[in-house]
This record gives sequence, C-alpha cells and structure tokens, in this order.
Amino acid sequence: MQPMLIVHGGAWSIPESLHEAHINGCTDAIQQVYPALQKGISALDAVEEAVCILEEDPTFDAGRGAFLNSEGEIELDAIICDGKTLNFGAVAAIKNILHPVKAAKLLMNHPEHCFMVGEGAQKFLRTRNFPEVGIEELLTPRELEFYHKIKNDPHFKTRTPFEPNPTGTVGAVARDLQGNLAAATSTGGTPRKLPGRVGDSPVIGAGAFADNRTGAVSATGYGESIMKVLLSKLTCDEFEKKPAMKAAQDAIHILQARVNGLGGVVGINSAGEYAFFHNTEYMAMAYYHEKKKVVALIQSR
Ligand code: ASP
Repeated sequence: MQPMLIVHGGAWSIPESLHEAHINGCTDAIQQVYPALQKGISALDAVEEAVCILEEDPTFDAGRGAFLNSEGEIELDAIICDGKTLNFGAVAAIKNILHPVKAAKLLMNHPEHCFMVGEGAQKFLRTRNFPEVGIEELLTPRELEFYHKIKNDPHFKTRTPFEPNPTGTVGAVARDLQGNLAAATSTGGTPRKLPGRVGDSPVIGAGAFADNRTGAVSATGYGESIMKVLLSKLTCDEFEKKPAMKAAQDAIHILQARVNGLGGVVGINSAGEYAFFHNTEYMAMAYYHEKKKVVALIQSR
C-alpha cells in the first residue's frame, strides 16, 4: 500500500512573519520521515519520528518552544495511538522532557498503564532512564518575553491566546506499507495555564485517535472545547459516513455548533484519503503528495 503522512503545526492566528518558519518545520517533518515510511517503518514509528522533529523545532508549542504556565514553568502533554491495536500511550504535565511523544511511546509498552501524569509519570520515566533536560533546552526567548507580557494582564484569556504570540501544538498521522494507521500529538498546552492543567492533546479520542477500521486523526485548538466533543474520535466516526474532507469539515462544524469551539484536525481515513479542516484563522500543515512530493501550507479559514 502507498504510505501516507500528514502533519500539522497548530492553528490560530499565525502572523505572516511566522508563516515561513511554520511551513519549513512542517515540510522538514515530511521530507525526513516519508522516505523511511517508503522503506517500511511502521506508521507508529513514523508519527513518533515526525513529532520529534516538530518538538525539536522552536517554532512550535511542543517540546522546545512551548508556552510557560502561570508559574513560569513548562508542562508538556503528548499522546501516540496505534490504529491496528487501538493501544495508546499518553503523558501529561511532565517537565524537563524534550520529546514527550517518546515518553508516550514508552508508556505504550507498559504492561498495565497507558496514561500517566505529573510526578508519577516523571518517576516512571526516571526508572527507565528517560533523558531529562534543563529548562533552558525548552525555553525560548520568545516565550519568556511573552510570559512576562501576559503574566499580570487581567484581560488575557486562554481561549484566544494566540493574538500577540502564535505558536502551535504539533501532530502527525501516517499510513504505512501494511496499511496500518497511527496518530500522535504533542503540546505545551495554552499560555499561562494553571499548573496541572491538561488540555485535549494527551486525551485519547480528543487530541488524537487511530483505528484502522475508520481512520486516524490529530487535533489542535482550544483544548477545553475539543475534549467536550472528543474531536479526533468524532472525526473518525464521520469517516465511516462520508469522504474524508467532508468528515473533517463536519466534525469541526459540530465542535463549533455544540461548544463554540475553535480547532483544527488533520487525518487519514481507512480508504487512504487525507482530511484537514479548521475554524481558527489559520492552520499550519504539510502532507506527502505523490506528484508534488510535499504540499505545505498555512491554511486560512
Ligand atoms: N490543544 C492544545 C491545548 O489546549 C493547544 C493547541 O492545540 O494549540 O492544550
């Protein structure tokens, strides 16, 4: 089967000055990972690899470049989902980790647990000698400056956090040579979130979902709304009823109609069609295209 790969670099109002960095980051992920998919790596390894590339890129709100919480700390969330087995691994509110998606993947193989948070997750990772980094590896001058700007601003709201400083959650969805699907999402959450706040990204069915029978999806946007409609699972349910693009569009319309939510999705359905749609101002994304090789764009609403 022809492998497929689609990634996103978040939504919201990405200003023109940052369009190029978003496009380059998403393009890199496709260019670096797609050849490996052609050589036969699994969809699961492909989404992990693609998200790692995006986590390392300071452009995005994931790994390096993540937002700071209200106490000036960085707490990260990630999930990875396997469409063949429905297994997933997820971590939330972890600190000092450059690649939360790798932590999620590690947890996926735990015999008993699949979702761990905070100090417990951190302890688990230490028992596996998972690499930790100092905050300076994650913190960018851009985010530090933004933190000081909004820290005591009584008008700042996390629902529309991206006006002055837009960066985005990252995600990837892949289909491998065997036709297996996988999805992964990684984020620093929303700016000035309270310590311990967890959004949609690491929640199965909300921030990502994968089922070979329907499709695989990674979501981005305002987590408090996305969780309420389980946006990624909702999109996969819509995949069963209609073409992939229409399914993504309808899922976002439901997000908007039911909870006044803002967000975007990228996905692949079980028939091998790409899907993407958003109702935020922009969404950064890229996918592999047989003729053009990489299509990368900042989708506007
Ligand atoms: N969904 C993420 C969260 O609410 C943020 C984003 O996608 O930009 O944590």
